[in-house]
Amino acid sequence: MFSHRADFLRHLAPTSPAPMGLEVVSAKGLYLKGIDGKRYLDLISGISVNALGHQHPYIVRAIQKQSRTFSHVMVYGEMVQGPQVKYARLLSSCLPDPLSSVYFVSSGAEATEGAMKLAKRATGRSGFVAFQQAYHGSTQGALSLMGSHYFTDAYLPLLPDVQHTVYEDLESLNCISHKTAAVFIETVRAEAGAVPVSTEFLQQIQARCREVGALLVLDEIQTGMGRTGSVFSLEQAGIVPDILLLAKSLGAGLPLGAFIASPELMGLFSHKPVLGHLTTFGGHPLSCAAGYAQLKFILKHRLWEQAAEMSAQFKTEVAHEKIKHIRGKGWLMGLEFESNTFNFAVLRKALELGLVSDWFLFNDKSLRVAPALTIGQAELKKAIGFIHRAIEAID
Ligand code: PMP
Repeated sequence: MFSHRADFLRHLAPTSPAPMGLEVVSAKGLYLKGIDGKRYLDLISGISVNALGHQHPYIVRAIQKQSRTFSHVMVYGEMVQGPQVKYARLLSSCLPDPLSSVYFVSSGAEATEGAMKLAKRATGRSGFVAFQQAYHGSTQGALSLMGSHYFTDAYLPLLPDVQHTVYEDLESLNCISHKTAAVFIETVRAEAGAVPVSTEFLQQIQARCREVGALLVLDEIQTGMGRTGSVFSLEQAGIVPDILLLAKSLGAGLPLGAFIASPELMGLFSHKPVLGHLTTFGGHPLSCAAGYAQLKFILKHRLWEQAAEMSAQFKTEVAHEKIKHIRGKGWLMGLEFESNTFNFAVLRKALELGLVSDWFLFNDKSLRVAPALTIGQAELKKAIGFIHRAIEAID
């Protein structure tokens, strides 16, 4: 079979000097097939994207059906497009009041940008508070929220009124003031290595936001759609944000993001100025049809319960003396080793054996575990076997 590797290196803009480089020819369920003819067990589902695995027949059928009906017809927000409306209604039915107005975009970063603008508009303030080692996207507004000098210093100046603080420290609540438009949080600090934030602290942040009139923005871009043991992790945290961010698995493998708020808040974009936020492709009919089918499937089969049970089993069975910490909630998990060198060696060996995983943006000592929610017993055992074999092949 013809390899695209040379042209990949020549014509695709690189994001690092050392890409994983696996050349995929097809994907099905929990497996990717490489050009070498080998099957690779996918333990990260495209970084928390393919909640039902690759090419799930139910989703493929939904995409095929919609592609025969209509694809792009008009920029977002003008025409009544069934797939968008059905999906927005279904999402709203899974969320607490007043989160019932969905602004569809095409990615997580765009959802963050939209939420930042809405918070400025709603409060008349320009300050933001975000957390160390938080990632909310790579565009300039979202990058301003990123709590990492390593990743942001080359792009200064970014937005001026952003403060970065730390989780689980009551002092950090003092950063949230009458000048704060919004505070961006996660319930599980995804790129810090899947570190859960305590319910108590999340509720304290919410209370502080309410006290000073700042909006609370919850990023469920990795935790949403059943991954952490409930449809959305806000249920377990007992908080109701003013704005919820979704992306990653929202489009079931097709590009889709959203920020969701109350109709009153969202209504601000429609006047003074009109067209307060715009996107051409946001809420693409194919992405919405795919996402709708996926959420219906997740709800019908209560996949969040399966995620909670199977991930708990995985946590117990994967334990190994070389794994120093196992963190996470549901199928958003990090296995931390003593060093990044050890983790990289495990990842390389695992890939050689037939297992795809990755490290985290701010925690390269940890191996990422975020498979499709449909992972079965056989695949779970196989993944653990690969990880143990990879660990034991090193030294
Ligand atoms: N928020 C979180 C928690 C994420 O993990 C990501 C992507 N890794 C984003 C936002 C940005 O999403 P996107 O890559 O679709 O812009």
